[in-house]
Amino acid sequence: MAKKQFKAESKRLMDLMINSIYTNKEIFLREIISNASDALDKLRYTALTDETARSVSDDLHIKVDIDKENRTVTVTDNGIGMTAEDLESNLGTIARSGSLKFKEQIAEGDDTANIIGQFGVGFYSAFMVSDNVKVISKHYTSNTAYIWESEGIDGYSVMEFGDSAVGTKIIMHIKEDTEAENYSEFLDLYRLRYLIKRYSDYISYPIIMDMEKSRQVGEGEEKTTETYIEAETVNSMVPIWKRSKNEVTEDDLNAFYQDKFFDFKKPFATIKVSTEGIVSYDALLYLPSAAPFNYYTKDYEKGLELYSNGVLIMDKCADLLPDYLMFVKGVVDSQDLSLNISREMLQHDRQLKSIATNIEKKILAELKKKLENNREEYEGFFKEFGLQLKYGTVADYGTNKEKTQNLLLFYSSNLKKYVTLNEYVTAMPEAQKYIYYACGESAAKIDALPQAELVKEKGYDILCFTDEVDEFVVNTLLKFNEKEFRSVDADNDELLSDDEKNESKKAFEDNEELLKFAAEYLKDKVSKVVISKKLKTHPVVLSAEGQISIEMEKYFAAMPGENKPKAAKVLEINAKHQVFEVLQNAYKTDSKKAEEILEILYNSAMLIAGFSIDDPTAYSELICSLIK
Ligand code: ADP
Repeated sequence: MAKKQFKAESKRLMDLMINSIYTNKEIFLREIISNASDALDKLRYTALTDETARSVSDDLHIKVDIDKENRTVTVTDNGIGMTAEDLESNLGTIARSGSLKFKEQIAEGDDTANIIGQFGVGFYSAFMVSDNVKVISKHYTSNTAYIWESEGIDGYSVMEFGDSAVGTKIIMHIKEDTEAENYSEFLDLYRLRYLIKRYSDYISYPIIMDMEKSRQVGEGEEKTTETYIEAETVNSMVPIWKRSKNEVTEDDLNAFYQDKFFDFKKPFATIKVSTEGIVSYDALLYLPSAAPFNYYTKDYEKGLELYSNGVLIMDKCADLLPDYLMFVKGVVDSQDLSLNISREMLQHDRQLKSIATNIEKKILAELKKKLENNREEYEGFFKEFGLQLKYGTVADYGTNKEKTQNLLLFYSSNLKKYVTLNEYVTAMPEAQKYIYYACGESAAKIDALPQAELVKEKGYDILCFTDEVDEFVVNTLLKFNEKEFRSVDADNDELLSDDEKNESKKAFEDNEELLKFAAEYLKDKVSKVVISKKLKTHPVVLSAEGQISIEMEKYFAAMPGENKPKAAKVLEINAKHQVFEVLQNAYKTDSKKAEEILEILYNSAMLIAGFSIDDPTAYSELICSLIK
């Protein structure tokens, strides 16, 4: 029988498995058992509507056997089975998206040892511990069984096997020990039993092993111990989410999360729900402490595992989570959901909707609790998922803003730490009318912004908006606790005393001609040139009038596409600065010189605002000529 080649990507993954330096080789058993459990799920599910499947769906179980002499570990299930084509396509190519992703990460040169644990690496993980794998399988609709065999990278063969029971048998020939690696441990009954308990305890089908037991026989002098074999169900089968709170430890809950959702970090929070009522359900929800590698990409799929009385009906039920909580992982199990409900029907299912609403409340309550009681941890969580909560505030026309606004944190320029909007507002002096914010790349850069001078002089705190979405957040919220948001860029007249107002009015009148001249000279670049009310020590600053702020212009500029919205820029000049005097004199005596000064002021303001300038060479020459 000719050997067939693996698809290129499978080869790569298999190569990795064979030469794996990954220390956690033991997870192969979890992977193989989890495939067996999936196959049992599939048969059970099919049996709901298919007579043939029903006739073979009794006594669903998984059996694990060890043959020390021949160095094999065999995992047998009486699940749905595979046809010859299935064997070919399922085991010859990488099926699961996790493995594909895994392969891509590796191609990008990441550290293998760290990555493996983050993915379900699936069937090929058998090659971490075996040098020959045989898969004998018979599909429930088929009369013949087929055998798939491979010794690794060289390829595989598929042949007719003859008759066998419906289901799949995976026979793994365990590698010989080397100096560096001990593989024989996987031929030890107790070791395997431990591994099953550790990783696969919650599997809802019995995992059976033939355990060696001993007993006393005979009487008196004749009394001896004999060993015998007894089949034992190794796993407790009660899913962890169905066990009562005092039956499971925090370690159990964490281990379940880490194994199931491939996270090597412990979760930030765990929520266990058991509700009886109009809709009864159990849920085990986890808020991860770090975003998965693909979180902020389109590959990330939200959703919770959905079970109907212990039987998996959907891997990622998206309808159970609002988008703004898409980072939540977990399982939901309800006996009130019909098993053979279709995805389309599920979307409109009232029970499911009510579960989803309930879950959302629980998650929000948990976040609130963490924010109040474990501030430091919450800040760590917010660093990972705060963006998500901000997007959630903005999304869907702000329909979720009431739920998210109290969970947001912003960096306070006065306090040099993160504050909630409530903390900001509570600390506001009585005279302060607005919540002030400034946009910039970092808190340090914001601190140095010329336009923040006026607010800072008053001693008012400024929220540092360092994420692009922040401004959109305030445009959605508009107010918090009746206090409106104000950018430090705005004309914050309320901060001026009457004297200051008069002074600035006078400066404007005195320099009307000059400002007109400047506006005319810069007419292609800015919509206005004004005497600044907010500058104290800096000579110039750019602000914007209208809907599009300077930061928004930058945000849009970074997005693909044409004709992007631009801010109507205003060049603000500080009339109290010496430079202004120079400009005034030049305007009176030498308009060419005045234009040069305007050129420098405009370009400087552009640079301070974080834009690049059109002609840096000319700008630099102009400055040098002035220095000379
Ligand atoms: P995944 O389980 O994520 O799809 P695997 O590489 O582990 O990826 O398995 C590939 C495919 O092989 C599975 O999707 C399934 O269709 C099939 N398969 C693996 N083990 C079994 C089994 N015990 N019974 C039936 N099908 C199986």
